[in-house]
Amino acid sequence: MTDSYAEPNDDVALSDDLALAFADDMCAFIDDSPSPFHASARAVDRLAADGFVQVHETQPWPSQPGRYVAVRGGSFIAWVVPEDALADDASFRIAGAHTDSPNLRVKENPDVGAVGWQQVSVDPYGGALAASWMDRDLGLSGRVVTRSGNRRDEHLLLVDEPIFRVPQLAIHLDRDVYTNGVKPDPQRHLTPVWATGPSPRRGEFAAWLGDQLGETLGVEEILGWDLMLHDVTPARRVGRDGSLVAAPRLDNQCSVHAGLRALADVAAAAEVQQRIVPVLAAFDHEEVGSSSDRGAASPFLATTLERIALSAGRDRDGYLRMLAGSVCASSDMAHAIHPNYPEKHEPTHPIFAGEGPVLKVNHNLRYATDAAGAAVFAAACEQAGVNLQRYVHRADLPCGSTIGPITATQLGITTVDVGAPQLAMHSIRELMSALDPIQLSAALAAFLAPA
Ligand code: ZN
Repeated sequence: MTDSYAEPNDDVALSDDLALAFADDMCAFIDDSPSPFHASARAVDRLAADGFVQVHETQPWPSQPGRYVAVRGGSFIAWVVPEDALADDASFRIAGAHTDSPNLRVKENPDVGAVGWQQVSVDPYGGALAASWMDRDLGLSGRVVTRSGNRRDEHLLLVDEPIFRVPQLAIHLDRDVYTNGVKPDPQRHLTPVWATGPSPRRGEFAAWLGDQLGETLGVEEILGWDLMLHDVTPARRVGRDGSLVAAPRLDNQCSVHAGLRALADVAAAAEVQQRIVPVLAAFDHEEVGSSSDRGAASPFLATTLERIALSAGRDRDGYLRMLAGSVCASSDMAHAIHPNYPEKHEPTHPIFAGEGPVLKVNHNLRYATDAAGAAVFAAACEQAGVNLQRYVHRADLPCGSTIGPITATQLGITTVDVGAPQLAMHSIRELMSALDPIQLSAALAAFLAPA
């Protein structure tokens, strides 16, 4: 199969060693970020090391130029205000991504058990490939809110130990396992076990949780949780030559990490322009439609951009003028052509692993890309010296969507959907080339700081 888009670019200047080190750094970020709350917190840590200061939405924002980040739970937005006054025709360049991934989330009354097993009941979140969650060692992470007297405390919880297992049914007990077993019933078949014994009393999970928080917390002090299961197997490079990455949450922490590295590179290149405010916006809740207080459909990005403009001394009209010239590149993962299912892909738009970022086009606007946005991102790839691949979904298969059309609708600005190629999207363990993350990051950096 040949296609002119798929030819590798001879100008690619990025060495394999750099690419592999970059992929290893991405693996470290993913391992540290089992939940969207951890992704936000680890992003803030990394940004702080690069001189970014966290601002809080309930407080006035500094009017000085600088590097800033604002957090709403599992979403965060980071930006750089240039040293000298913004030019009259200044605008935003926004790299978008999402922090959440499909997983299993702990219900409110999770203590269940049957026939000598103790279990914790869960809800699937997003479109997980459910069968991939079976027979894996699962830990727990997320956010817990507790009370102590009149005070409420929010805890980031990470139990990075093999606590839970969702066992498959033995093949001897279901001769149709390859037809029935592919799609487990989410209510009955995905409930993890974590001990043997009599059916637990209500509150046992909460009591265990109190112990994990390292405090003497009674069950009545635990007010609420956003807790989810994750694969405790570390992300790692695999393959004959170590040039592949097998990891959880590549969709879409690959983009979050690439965006973080891109923004840090742009901030470090002293000549941040007076005409561009580079922004990285990473949202929670993409996998369930983005409608929440902090999803891409929320006002978080719009209010943040307006406050950036107001802090820089602009009025509302000045903000709207900035917006009118702005562009968003929304990065989410793309489907590389699958060697075992090539018939599932559009024949004239094969996407090859390791051959650079992907421009995603859907004429029914499941992706926001149009010619104007495509031109901006193509120029960024050219500036970065990376190859650009162009993706179109098969016309006879429904196309997934992402945050691009949502941010485009919220802000009314030119938006382009991009990403990096991968296989096994929404599996507990996804696969990509180790050469792609650095190319995506280089393209995003060029997008955020056009020459
Ligand atoms: Zn995604």
